[in-house]
Amino acid sequence: MHALAAPSGPELESLLAPLGDVAYTADRCAALADLVREINALKRTRHAVILAHNYQRPELFQVADFVGDSLELAREATRVDAETIVFCGVHFMAETAKILNPTRRVLLPDLRAGCSLADSVTAEDLAERKAQLRAVYPDLAVVGYVNTTADVKAECDACCTSSNAVRVVEGLPSEHILFVPDQNLAAYVQSQTRKSIIAWDGNCYVHHQITPEQIGAVKAALPHVRVLAHPECRRDVLALADAVLSTSGMVRYAHESDATEFLVVTECGLSDRLLLEVPGKKFYKSCKLCHYMKMITLEGTRDALRDLQPEITLPEDVRVRAARALERMFELGG
Ligand code: SF4
Repeated sequence: MHALAAPSGPELESLLAPLGDVAYTADRCAALADLVREINALKRTRHAVILAHNYQRPELFQVADFVGDSLELAREATRVDAETIVFCGVHFMAETAKILNPTRRVLLPDLRAGCSLADSVTAEDLAERKAQLRAVYPDLAVVGYVNTTADVKAECDACCTSSNAVRVVEGLPSEHILFVPDQNLAAYVQSQTRKSIIAWDGNCYVHHQITPEQIGAVKAALPHVRVLAHPECRRDVLALADAVLSTSGMVRYAHESDATEFLVVTECGLSDRLLLEVPGKKFYKSCKLCHYMKMITLEGTRDALRDLQPEITLPEDVRVRAARALERMFELGG
């Protein structure tokens, strides 16, 4: 356990900022409502659906046909029969929708919406490391978190998400697993399996900056609060959690739990979704924003639908190999 120093003053206020404090002025809300109407009309004329990740701005949940975590969005992308998918999330997620649904037009409202985790591994580096390790461990399999680019997925034997990573690793016949790119998720998986996990050294800058001292401080001030942490957090943070869950796992937990107050240790956007969907309970957020996720706006979504761009395209050979790794995930991960 880490020493718990009770915070005070502005530090305590920032740690305990309730979600209701989010400032949406009446003027801003009226402008957002106009945009929501405009987007809904464009969705009909463009035969489009909008898929949105749990970390998006709350106003985007108002136009989304489906909101979920990476696994749910990947699954939903396989079921879409609309001509166009507008992906309100980051670049690798829109690529995943295209990999799984190649005949559809996939739009990402802002191409700058990247990911520090996806950026931490390239296909070239992975191919080189894989070859080195296979010389030592001939049975080596590569498991790639879905937070990777399409050409990295193409180098993997199977993909996984935070909610099925352990099942995917357990389901593969190999005893040695190269796990890319998140070192924290790899450490969490290692704690749940007897297989040998070789971790890449990437991380999500949002989750990696959360410290056990911050969590300990909230627990000291609010001992009854239930701590829900995402497995992209550091191991010493996960050690303080009551439950380690994917974002959608957190939503289910909050609905079903008899607890009424939670500290949600992941990107702030999820707390916005919880506030909207579970109004009877109280959520404290970790005040960590992913600036990539927040690049997607209602204005950008409207423009993407109106102009039918920016569009995600992929070389077919990369798409086919990446699709194989994703299909293996569905097969093994449930
Ligand atoms: S929250 Fe982390 S893993 Fe998710 S998109 Fe942002 S940087 Fe990437």
